[in-house]
Amino acid sequence: MNFKKLMADLEAKNPAQPLYLQAAKEVLETIVDFVNENPKYDKYKIVERILEPERIVKFKVSWVDDKGEIQINRGYRVQHNMAIGPYKGGLRFHPSVTEDTMKFLAFEQTFKNSLTTLPMGGGKGGSDFDPQGKSEGEVMRFCQAFMMELQKYIGPETDVPAGDIGVGGREIGFMYGMYKKIRGEHVGVLTGKGLEWGGSLIRPEATGFGAVYFLEGMLAENKDSIKGKKVALSGYGNVAWGAAIKLAELGAKVVAISGPDGYIYDEEGITSQEKINYMDELLQTRNNVVAPFAKKFPSAKFTAGKRPWEVKVDIAIPCAIQNELDADDAKTLIKNGCKYVVETSNMGCTADAVVELQKAKVAFAPGKAANAGGVATSGLEMSQNGMKLMWTREEVDQKLNGIMNSIHSNCVKYGKEKDGYINYVKGANVAGFIKVAEAMIAQGIAY
Ligand code: GLU
Repeated sequence: MNFKKLMADLEAKNPAQPLYLQAAKEVLETIVDFVNENPKYDKYKIVERILEPERIVKFKVSWVDDKGEIQINRGYRVQHNMAIGPYKGGLRFHPSVTEDTMKFLAFEQTFKNSLTTLPMGGGKGGSDFDPQGKSEGEVMRFCQAFMMELQKYIGPETDVPAGDIGVGGREIGFMYGMYKKIRGEHVGVLTGKGLEWGGSLIRPEATGFGAVYFLEGMLAENKDSIKGKKVALSGYGNVAWGAAIKLAELGAKVVAISGPDGYIYDEEGITSQEKINYMDELLQTRNNVVAPFAKKFPSAKFTAGKRPWEVKVDIAIPCAIQNELDADDAKTLIKNGCKYVVETSNMGCTADAVVELQKAKVAFAPGKAANAGGVATSGLEMSQNGMKLMWTREEVDQKLNGIMNSIHSNCVKYGKEKDGYINYVKGANVAGFIKVAEAMIAQGIAY
């Protein structure tokens, strides 16, 4: 595999898709040695084939807002790779969504899903629809219009979407209702469903819980413990909420948390049930701002318009959106003694930030490993739907914990360097690649 040539070809083929190129470059530069040690992958052109999505569906979504005005949005589903199972991955509703965003996320998802040990291929979808400031009726009408088109391309054995930014339990419900109305079948075609209609316990908390289980593995590797560690979280959403619950339970102290308006610093820690419940309450109101938190709790101070990476912490957990932590943030974290960065948003750190963190030997977990608990629990929801039964909270949590442990061990297996430093990026990419590559070879030149 010739890294330079592959990248040049990819850039020529995908102009104006910087996110996809960033995600692909990170994978290519970390798997190049492994691929070159195993010539069969080149013989079957596995890398070139994995880089090309199997299918990209792009569609129009027209709907009527509360004023009676017609709105037009773009919908997408990128079915990236089906070698190890049905396409699986979330739907993102956010104004920043483009084909580039969808392609990078679907590409990442293929590797992530492979790491989970479950049989799930990679896909991603969404729309440039902005749920912020929309009424419930508007969100419902948009979800219904979106599903009227999406339903043509999905199914419990072909492609199983779920939530992501802007898509939570409410939106999954609206979409599921429309799918059933059109198709007349109650099947596990979406995950993240409500508990009363096929959802799995722990799914809402799973991404955050999983990231903390992964962090525990990183700490254990350094003979370190989570107790008393100071943590900064970004992205005041479902993922940060799950992480905050688990961190509090294990004795860590979340001191900073950010939303789109800025961040709050709470010296006493966001550890009490009252604070976590209030976080959930703010979340439910859907504006995700953190300023009210500082008004309610006098120990919390609000800093407008800034991210929480300037706070002195041991552990940073970005949970918001791609490229939310850059090289300058990384340098500040390093200067302040931060030892662990657990990327829980998809590609939350810029490539330069990752270079800085790895140079300083900060333990850095990439999103596709650290945040895989969400989709893994979606996989568990699919299993429960298939078997038409429901596991207990403990059963799901135990399975999730086991999956995160296995992802961590795989990262260590393929990412440990001579000096003992674990390159989790390399470990995750190589481990994720192997399973997909082997499946593709076994299945002939189909895709
Ligand atoms: N959107 C989540 C992710 O990035 C979850 C996807 C799913 O559950 O299918 O992995």
